[in-house]
Amino acid sequence: VPGLPYDGLPALEARRRIVEDLKAAGLIVKAEPYTHEVGHCDRCDAVIEPLISEQWWLRMEVMRDKALQASAAGKVRWHPARYERTYLDWLHGLRDWNVGRQLWLGHRVPVYHCENGHQVVAVVRPRECTECGSAALTQDPDVLDTWFSSALWPFATLGWPEETEDLKAFYPNDMNSTAREIINLWVSRMIMTGLEFMGEVPFVDVAIHCQVQAADGRRMSKSLGTGVDPRDLIERYGTDAVRAWAASVAMSSQDVRFDESRVEGYRRFCNKLWNATRLVLRSPGAGPAEAPGALEVHEHLEDRWVMSRLSNACAAVTAGIEDFKFQDSMAAAYDFAWNEFCDWYLEAVKERLRAGDAAAQDVAYFCLDNVFRLLHPFMPFVTEELWSRTPGHHEFVMRSSWPAFQFVDTVAEAAFGHVMRIVEEIRGHRQAAGAQRPGGKLALDASTDRTVAALSARLALVELVDDLTEGTPLGAAPGRVSFPQGAGDTKRQAELRRLTSDLEKTDAKLANPDFRTKAPFDIVRKLEERAAELRAAIDRLSS
Ligand SMILES: [Zn+2]
Ligand SMILES: [Zn+2]
Repeated sequence: VPGLPYDGLPALEARRRIVEDLKAAGLIVKAEPYTHEVGHCDRCDAVIEPLISEQWWLRMEVMRDKALQASAAGKVRWHPARYERTYLDWLHGLRDWNVGRQLWLGHRVPVYHCENGHQVVAVVRPRECTECGSAALTQDPDVLDTWFSSALWPFATLGWPEETEDLKAFYPNDMNSTAREIINLWVSRMIMTGLEFMGEVPFVDVAIHCQVQAADGRRMSKSLGTGVDPRDLIERYGTDAVRAWAASVAMSSQDVRFDESRVEGYRRFCNKLWNATRLVLRSPGAGPAEAPGALEVHEHLEDRWVMSRLSNACAAVTAGIEDFKFQDSMAAAYDFAWNEFCDWYLEAVKERLRAGDAAAQDVAYFCLDNVFRLLHPFMPFVTEELWSRTPGHHEFVMRSSWPAFQFVDTVAEAAFGHVMRIVEEIRGHRQAAGAQRPGGKLALDASTDRTVAALSARLALVELVDDLTEGTPLGAAPGRVSFPQGAGDTKRQAELRRLTSDLEKTDAKLANPDFRTKAPFDIVRKLEERAAELRAAIDRLSS
């Protein structure tokens, strides 16, 4: 402290002199080593000494209040919404910001000193001192905090303070996507400086993505060796699979552990789309009209059903994108394309497509056309490629309009839903019986709609008959299903013997009190579950 003894001395030197002075005054009782915590520089290991210095500060109240007003007026939307709390809490507790740094590189503090000790603050370098008129000005050597410079990013990169074309075109922008740890350091400050210098928030939506951790939950890092190189993933699974996976996890509300099998799952999805498209393309005949979906009357239940489900998928994918819940969009598109379109619809119309049925082609191409457009933001390459191979597409899918297709048929949805339950039940019985497919007979009471009955039989690969006296009663609809004896039955008996012997062994283990007391709880529980599963499987087989 100026004016006091030891002023201006480094700490070690001051310490030495203080001890000397204390000794001289006869005040030292004893000296001994003493262990305590001392901060060290992480680079050169020198002891860190606090040093009082003058610094530049930015007064924050006015900027903060503008940001709070913008939020209150709904001008900034956070996704997921809970991050708005993080941001507002920080703003409310905001104090003045020490923006000066004593570094070599950075934006220099806009402060000029004249030879008479006056200070001028100005964005553009002044010609002379505003107080004494001296032209001998030097700029302050301090630079601004990196985050201050970063806070100017949304407009400084566009040529500000000049009124450039870029600035006019791109400010304000739509969306800022970032990680949660820089909400306060960066996002909040971009909003405050944007309001201060441009009079408008720099972006309307802030999307905070989750963090992907290594499979074991550790942080992904190059030095820890826990990272994953996206280029390797792309090499293995393709760009679209990696991108679709990223879209399906990015906006999760919790951090996610990396699971490579999910990326692989999206590669299978790409293949599924290829195969489905190929199947439809193989259908003989003239192909659909210039614009698929031109047919307005849908005679077949499966056509009405899939159109209704497609309409539902369009709405769900759109809502997911608008709400920044891309995982919902991916799930809706995936479910429709894989489960409903490929697994159910294409199965239902396989014969019609093979026969060149124009209505089936029209609906199938219409579904593909919409699926490509819905999936394009998430899987741009495979959708563009397949789009170019399907008839009626001369432009790029990228330039096509977003699907806004509406077709709701609740009657068809209910009827086809009934078909699905019946078919799934028959498949279960066939598997339990170890019977071949196709094969078997199905009888459904007159109370079941004949269209539903015929479609169920076709999809379950059984013959629809008027009456069955033997066979297994169905739960999904009044009726019975039966499978031929023979090869299937022998297989069933063998399976039954295998399961029974497995169950006996498991039960014996569980009955052993020694095992029960000594084995870890988890192991015992798993064995109990296994026994229950075996019992259920045996029940199914013996019915
Ligand atoms: Zn150092
Ligand atoms: Zn001056």
